[in-house]
Amino acid sequence: MKITKKIISEEQIQERIIQLATEINKDYEGKNLIILGVLKGAFIAISDLAKNLNIDVSFEFMSISSYEGSESTGQIKIEKDLDVDIAGKNILIVEDIFDTGLTISSLIDILGSRNPESIQTMCMFVKPIENKIPVEIKYKGFEIGSEFVVGYGLDYMGKYRELPYLAELS
Ligand code: 5GP
Repeated sequence: MKITKKIISEEQIQERIIQLATEINKDYEGKNLIILGVLKGAFIAISDLAKNLNIDVSFEFMSISSYEGSESTGQIKIEKDLDVDIAGKNILIVEDIFDTGLTISSLIDILGSRNPESIQTMCMFVKPIENKIPVEIKYKGFEIGSEFVVGYGLDYMGKYRELPYLAELS
């Protein structure tokens, strides 16, 4: 496999991150917020987002796997759980990409049972919505096609995460 096509440029991504951070700053003004990053893919988006936030925010991470290679396994596995109590807290789950919705919907169920004040979601890249588990994504970076993509945190077999842009792999 090799990278064939740049789909979204670094400049487009950075511009969108600033827009999303502006919305989050406005929506959570005067509130506390825990940004919950889904590892590993969300690490770059969270780091870029963090630099543009000016609210009372802290950052926590969970590690989940649902994919092996480029095929969905149809279930999620928690590799690393949270080590803080989220009862009464506002949670924003940040995920790299929304594909079937399995990861986000499972996380909402798991975290919802821990009595947070609120749970919202942000996905940097959203694949087409046919046959998806219905989940409301409050903050969407970009809607993309159904092709397998890498870069900006997303990998293929552990590689390509460092690319500052989104590319199609084929
Ligand atoms: P979902 O649970 O929504 O089906 O899938 C979310 C997870 O699947 C993402 O966090 C990501 O790890 C993986 N995934 C889905 N589509 C892609 C893709 O096009 N490229 C890469 N690298 N990972 C993907």
